[in-house]
Amino acid sequence: MRQIFSLSDFTLPHSTPRIGIFGGTFDPVHNGHLILARDAMEALGLERVIFVPAALSPHKLGSQPAPAPLRLEMLAGAIAGEPGFDLDASELDRPGPSFTIDTVEALRARFPLARCIYLIGRDNEAKLAEWRRYEELRQMTEFVVLDRREEGQAEGVRAVPRRIDISATEIRERIARGASIRYLVPEPVRKLIEQHRLYR
Ligand code: ATP
Repeated sequence: MRQIFSLSDFTLPHSTPRIGIFGGTFDPVHNGHLILARDAMEALGLERVIFVPAALSPHKLGSQPAPAPLRLEMLAGAIAGEPGFDLDASELDRPGPSFTIDTVEALRARFPLARCIYLIGRDNEAKLAEWRRYEELRQMTEFVVLDRREEGQAEGVRAVPRRIDISATEIRERIARGASIRYLVPEPVRKLIEQHRLYR
């Protein structure tokens, strides 16, 4: 095994800052989202991860999420104290459904020197090509998959390799049947859900 290392053996700061964009319904945000965002930040050398809650996800039309201000408040509570995590509420200011291309365009205007990396769950990967103006989107941002399931990944798409079996669906179902969600979501999120009697 090699014992001597030179400076170039270590990762040097990237000259181009990279920002991660993490879109979703976050209904509610859970610890899976947070662990994966932190993993992505470490693995990809991201300067920050921006959580972007969707007004209404085009992939989830038909289901009614919790009110946007509450999803936003839960996200704010979940990421408080983590300096690398940010929140962008711009999709909530536009009438839904929210399209990623609009968000990425706005973030690129806000961070013109940064490279944008868009984080998606494996379940979204299969339908990526159907996203609005996908070809343009692909030029503007690199997609990185949060490795949710075990299938092989599409060629050329990088992955953050951790599997966490937590979903917002499970959280909502547990609440509906009176089961505890402690340890699945951050405490501020659990308290807000309780206070506003969400997902009952
Ligand atoms: P739901 O169960 O309501 O579909 P969700 O838990 O998938 O919700 P979203 O708000 O849709 O939460 O998630 C935002 C993004 O994070 C999506 O790309 C989703 O695939 C991904 N994601 C959520 N949970 C996980 C997880 N445990 N592992 C990997 N990716 C995840």
